[in-house]
Amino acid sequence: MSTLPSSLLCALIDALGTDGVYTGDAIAPRHHTDWSGTEPRRPLALLRPSHTAQVAQALRLCHVHGVPVVPQGGMTGLAGGAVPTFGAVALSLERMNAIESLDATAGTLVCQAGATLQAVQEAAKAAGCVFGVDLGARGSCQIGGNLATNAGGNGVVQFGMMREQALGLEVVLADGTVLDMMRPMLKNNTGYDLKHWFIGSEGTLGVITRALLQLHPEPRARATVLAALADYASAMTLLTRLKACFPGTLAAFELMWEDFQRFAFDATGTPSPFTQSHPFTVLAEVSGSDNETVQDALQHVLEVAMEDGLVLDAALAQSEAQAAALWRIREATAEIPSRMQSINFDISLPLQAMGDFAERCVQRLSERWPSQRSVRFGHLGDGNLHLSTDARSLGGLPFKEAEREVEALVYGLVAQANGSVSAEHGIGLHKKPYLGVSRSPAELAAMRAIKHALDPLDLLNPGKVFDPA
Ligand code: FAD
Repeated sequence: MSTLPSSLLCALIDALGTDGVYTGDAIAPRHHTDWSGTEPRRPLALLRPSHTAQVAQALRLCHVHGVPVVPQGGMTGLAGGAVPTFGAVALSLERMNAIESLDATAGTLVCQAGATLQAVQEAAKAAGCVFGVDLGARGSCQIGGNLATNAGGNGVVQFGMMREQALGLEVVLADGTVLDMMRPMLKNNTGYDLKHWFIGSEGTLGVITRALLQLHPEPRARATVLAALADYASAMTLLTRLKACFPGTLAAFELMWEDFQRFAFDATGTPSPFTQSHPFTVLAEVSGSDNETVQDALQHVLEVAMEDGLVLDAALAQSEAQAAALWRIREATAEIPSRMQSINFDISLPLQAMGDFAERCVQRLSERWPSQRSVRFGHLGDGNLHLSTDARSLGGLPFKEAEREVEALVYGLVAQANGSVSAEHGIGLHKKPYLGVSRSPAELAAMRAIKHALDPLDLLNPGKVFDPA
């Protein structure tokens, strides 16, 4: 189908209003693709509902006409999950961005799925709370997209992934049925906990329309350090020490290999706080109840670690501005798409395996392409490695060919290490060919059975994650 049947278009306009349905050039290019670099495609129409009943009506109408629907959040996804497929309409949650309520005592917040992560973080902060998920795309990505991808980011080591923040969800199924799962109870063992099926399902099982989220008390103080290390083993030992010294309050532990550090200093113009370069640096943050205590405690741990030869050098931030400058180094990841023609990986591995794996990857890439340029960084506390290789450093191979070859090489190593091809970004379109590396045939069959039960006509985000049997 290359155009929408006019009867459906008219019915959608009746249901959503003229401001709720865009077609043709009125659809802004940002709805054509996401940050994954997937080839852009204009959807047949862009649906912009403003409340749940409109989402339900839109899905019901598309269901009756057999028209596929691609849910769209902030379009910051890195797997192509929100990119329109052929013959589909896009359904954007951008108008459903209300923070509906916040209860600081109970530590809960209710919002529509189109609220940005940053809006939720700011609302939580204004009430003396903190939201447990944070990531670089916070200003654009939406809570619905975060839930649909089960996003991770910087705070996982302390608060877990998006799944751990979701107390309740409201979801609309492919046929327009509304599932209200917004009961504000922690304990509720009454049959299947259905909300978990939608978290991480990348828009293939239902459209998330509202969420009841868990908040945490905002820590009164934070201490941030950039520590220089000689090797990966030192990073693991430092992680264990910090977890033991700051139980439950280690808020970040971000590892940067030397190749990433060079990239980050250059891309951000931030000077290195160290006089020489080091094989590894860790950006660690701990939270606490008052500045002096947490700062002194972290300084003491670092002094002991330096006496032991574990830490080679350390820059402990003395102010919020200095902490922000250290975070700018880690957040140079946002510069990767503009400074590299990047082939990106988001790999999950047992912690002990990650150091050797990262070395082996770069060694194998260098054997094949001596001029290869890659950068490595990771949420070490969660066993999550990110690797980006610049396709322009691979001897002039066309991008698609370079991507295919590099992916085959890296995912071959992931398979040998029994790791996951997606730690936090999802499968979308991009990693579909490699899903079988990390999921058994029996797991894939169970996933297809769930998809068929909830969306038998395969109309919700078809062709994403896996193809029907
Ligand atoms: P989109 O890209 O719009 O959609 C993603 C998927 O969710 C698609 O399959 C879409 O169909 C589905 N979807 C969206 N909204 C809904 C909804 N309401 N209901 C059902 N399905 C829906 N990710 C991390 O996990 N950790 C990071 O540290 C991280 N850092 C990033 C840094 C940068 C600079 C960038 C650009 C991206 C980063 N990401 C990271 C990836 C991305 O931000 C996350 O995957 C985010 O959760 C996507 O949210 P979104 O609203 O942009 O979703």
